[in-house]
Amino acid sequence: MKTAQINGEKIVIKEIEDIKLDGRKGAVVKVLGCGLCGSDIVKFKHKIASDGTVLGHEIVGIIEEINSETEFMKGDKIVSSHHIPCFECTYCRHENYSMCRHFKETNIIPGGFSEKIYLSEEHLKNVAHKVPKNITDEEISFYEPLGCCVRAIKRCDLKQGDKILVIGLGSIGLIMAEGLKAYGYKVFGCDLINERIALASSRGIESFNSSNIEDFNRIIRDKTKNYGVDAIFMTSGADKAIDVAVKTVKQGGKILVFSSTPLNKGYPNNEIYYKELTVLGSYSPSPNDLEDSFNLITSCKVNVKSLTTTYPIECIQEAFNDTISNKIFKAYIQM
Ligand SMILES: [Zn+2]
Ligand SMILES: [Zn+2]
Repeated sequence: MKTAQINGEKIVIKEIEDIKLDGRKGAVVKVLGCGLCGSDIVKFKHKIASDGTVLGHEIVGIIEEINSETEFMKGDKIVSSHHIPCFECTYCRHENYSMCRHFKETNIIPGGFSEKIYLSEEHLKNVAHKVPKNITDEEISFYEPLGCCVRAIKRCDLKQGDKILVIGLGSIGLIMAEGLKAYGYKVFGCDLINERIALASSRGIESFNSSNIEDFNRIIRDKTKNYGVDAIFMTSGADKAIDVAVKTVKQGGKILVFSSTPLNKGYPNNEIYYKELTVLGSYSPSPNDLEDSFNLITSCKVNVKSLTTTYPIECIQEAFNDTISNKIFKAYIQM
């Protein structure tokens, strides 16, 4: 079967032996497609993943072989994520599921950019769902990334009527904004790339260019009776965006950190203290968050239409390049 593997500076197509169940519980899934996640880009670009790694975890596929106590059957089209918490350790008891050791150890094998994958019984029981006919493969591939956003939104514990600013309108920023909208909050967006600002605005997210922080802050103050926004969702990976966040957040407001930044310079201590700010992080979703994400997509409450550019697996390198150069918004790799 075909896989896309990291090989030094490149992603190459390699044939490996077909995955079989061989008496195991779980399922062999023929992958239809897999979204290219920002974390895949980071693992490739910064050489965090070793040669031979098959990236990809935002998969949609058809069950080809199954041995399971679940109700899934051969021929079902399913979506699944890759990690499952143990629900018992100290992290899980404090709902920090993505810190759980078992969560980090579980995965789809060999990885999403593969013709076939093995999903364990645990995956089928906790994080797999049958895809209804009204949703396209590309749309449901947002199941895991939107799950990450759902977790962030829940962690922030917002109040009805809150005004939110999403900093960074790449694919994750945009679906974060769409998610916040679906939960009923007033959402603003900002970015430095005008095409992204235009795209977000066309989807009903009032968005602005924040390259001049003072000007942008005046706009936000204007729209919030001079208070500033109740919460910031930081999806930008730029260190400078931290200044925008601290400037535009309300006193007593929250800053939800949803990205790494190159300099890792951090949030200013005194601003946090004097303004009683809450700065909190959110990483990866629990099975519950994923179920909410699944329901939001399949009920069409969150708009994930027309966001992807499709590449055949043979052109996966181009998909990585085009994502890195911001030529496209979100790549979906078709097997
Ligand atoms: Zn992802
Ligand atoms: Zn655990």
